[in-house]
Amino acid sequence: MAISNELLKVLACPVCKSDLTQNKNQLKCKKCNVNYPIKDDIPILIPKN
Ligand SMILES: [Zn+2]
Repeated sequence: MAISNELLKVLACPVCKSDLTQNKNQLKCKKCNVNYPIKDDIPILIPKN
């Protein structure tokens, strides 16, 4: 299960607006060191705090 590179390009961390990197079924913000889950090919970009 992978989201497209096109989608990944426009996605950003909701907290710091940095680029996200995909790791299996998660998107990771390296700056915040936070993982966001991908459910049914839809990234769930909800800040934990
Ligand atoms: Zn971030």
